[in-house]
Amino acid sequence: MFNFVFQNTTKLVFGKGQIAQLQSLIPIDKKVLITFGGGSVKRNGVYEQVKIALKDHAVIEFWGIEPNPAVETLRKAVQLGLEEKVDMLLAVGGGSVLDGTKLIAAAIAEHEKDAWDIVKSGTAPKQIPFASVMTLPATGSEMNNGAVISCHETQEKFSFRGDYPVFSILDPETTYSLPPYQISCSLADIVVHCFEQYMTTTGQNRVLDRWAEGVIATAMEIAPLIKADSHNYEVMSDYMFSATMALNNFIRMGITQDWSTHQIGHELTALCGVTHGESLAIVYPGTIDVLREQKKDKLLQFGSRVLGIVEGDDDKRIDEIIARIESFFKSLGLATRLSEKNIGIDVIEEIARRFNERGVKLGEAQNVTGDVAREILMRRL
Ligand code: NAP
Ligand code: FE
Repeated sequence: MFNFVFQNTTKLVFGKGQIAQLQSLIPIDKKVLITFGGGSVKRNGVYEQVKIALKDHAVIEFWGIEPNPAVETLRKAVQLGLEEKVDMLLAVGGGSVLDGTKLIAAAIAEHEKDAWDIVKSGTAPKQIPFASVMTLPATGSEMNNGAVISCHETQEKFSFRGDYPVFSILDPETTYSLPPYQISCSLADIVVHCFEQYMTTTGQNRVLDRWAEGVIATAMEIAPLIKADSHNYEVMSDYMFSATMALNNFIRMGITQDWSTHQIGHELTALCGVTHGESLAIVYPGTIDVLREQKKDKLLQFGSRVLGIVEGDDDKRIDEIIARIESFFKSLGLATRLSEKNIGIDVIEEIARRFNERGVKLGEAQNVTGDVAREILMRRL
């Protein structure tokens, strides 16, 4: 285990009916800008619950943060927040609304800077306080300090780090209205978050190995249960909790991490509009195939502990493990090949070119360059 410092400051408020807690969680003297996506919260009753809880607070609203939040949209919210002199933000929606809100919080706090420059710098040194009511379990954004922002003008998608949400309310009942495709994308995101932190070298943190294996096994176990009944409170609670525990910085303590699949996936989203979770389902089998030697011991550990794959020589077992992971994504109804999304070699070449131009060296061994990304994607055609 490497040396590490760990501090996660988000207060998690979990359970049925907990949106009502907003009333006491937000100090009455705060002027709050509430941020929303395209309107799902009006259709599933979440908006009404928020309005009732905050009926005595001074609130204003900003609507229209889109999936893969765009800096072009967020700048408008920053302007509104500055004009209205708000001193707190509340994101109500999925990871995109919250990620976008994290940037709004940073750009209000440092209004002399352009929002995209903050993203490109990779860190937000200052943010006004923000919190969330999370309605889509996927990103872990509700309990982490990261955010991923897109720029339409340049077709780029980058992440930055900053503060944690002050609090996040997770009511599993809010997930009942999720469309099946969104649930599938989120399950892919949850398991790949775990893989990005787990599938490196063995023996770095035995406790967190078991934790990551537990979250992945849970996501795989509940996927068919959610498909059968997405109104089962206990199952949807496990689903919601899995997403938070996959990416709240717990399973990365003292270990190396990968994240190359996410970086390649972000390019597929920025260039071709592929939904985040689906981009990971396409890329991940390629990452572990190309890096199978480097990740061999961990792949075999995962295969034996989680998938029960113990027979055959190492190569045969790894082939089976990769096939099983791909078939999990397929069982969710997601594309696992670029051709299913009509993406061809031209896009692969553009991603390789961008990575080489940026001089990226991704992954736990810092060896995923543009050329390696090309090799990964060529195996996913
Ligand atoms: P999302 O983009 O926030 O939402 C996708 C869609 O789901 C939206 O159309 C939204 O509709 C709808 N939706 C949300 N909650 C719903 C509900 N309860 N019922 C019905 N529809 C609902 O999806 P996401 O997967 O949470 O976020 C994806 C973004 O997060 C990507 O940009 C990805 O790169 C990023 N990400 C961030 C992190 C991180 O650590 N911060 C990690 C991984 C990924 P409305 O717009 O109408 O509400
Ligand atoms: Fe993700």
